[in-house]
Parts: sequence; C-alpha cells; structure tokens
Amino acid sequence: MAKTSVLSAVLQSKCPRCRRGKIFSGSLYGFNFQNTNDNCSHCNMKFEIEPGYFYGAMYVSYAFVVGEMLTIGLLTYLITGNDTSPWLYIGVILSAVLILSPINYRYSRVLLLHFLTPKVKYNPEYDTDDKGRNI
Ligand SMILES: [Zn+2]
Repeated sequence: MAKTSVLSAVLQSKCPRCRRGKIFSGSLYGFNFQNTNDNCSHCNMKFEIEPGYFYGAMYVSYAFVVGEMLTIGLLTYLITGNDTSPWLYIGVILSAVLILSPINYRYSRVLLLHFLTPKVKYNPEYDTDDKGRNI
C-alpha cells in the first residue's frame, strides 16, 4: 500500500502521525468549519497535545494574515493604479482576510501539527488501511 505524501496530508488536513484520519470534522466553508476532532479517527492521536496547544496556531495564523494583507494590498495597487483612497485598501484587504479566515484557521492548525511541533512525527506504521492494528 502506497504511503501518503506530506503534501497531500497537509492539503487534505489529515493527521500528522498517520496521514489518514481527519483533523477537522466540518467542511472548510461549512457552518461548523472550526470543529477540530479530539482524536484521530485512524490512529487515535490526541490533536490538542497539551492544554492550550492550539494557541500556538495564532502565531501561524498571524503570519498568514500579514502575508495575505501585503499580497492583496500590492495586487490592489497594481490593479487600480494610483487610486490613493485608503478606504479602497481597507475595504478590499478586510474583505479578503474575512473570506480567507476559515483557510487561515484550518491551515494554521495543520501547519502547527505537521511542521512546528517536534514531538509529533509521521509514523509510516500507522499509515495503513489496517485501522485497528497499532492502537
Ligand atoms: Zn492519525
């Protein structure tokens, strides 16, 4: 059985240990987009490793928002030329950040789990169809 790549696991918001179980129970733009599962449905890893663990995702999210604001501000400048109204920039940037907020929320947690937590490691032994074997 082929192993799951880290890219596909990150894009599909899968568990960092087995790359099989879903981290979130809701859909990206559903009303319940913020529901994070307590444990991986495949390998039973606890996602909130310690109390307050996901506060760390705020820093990742902050980096996302800064990058998005700079990119969208620059694009607005390039598209509208020399329109110097600050309200144009405020309106466009705040709308874009609002629209992107479910993505920021979700992928800040995914990146925190996959890349920024040294004790969480991918374990190929869990990356199998045989769900119950390693639990
Ligand atoms: Zn898992």
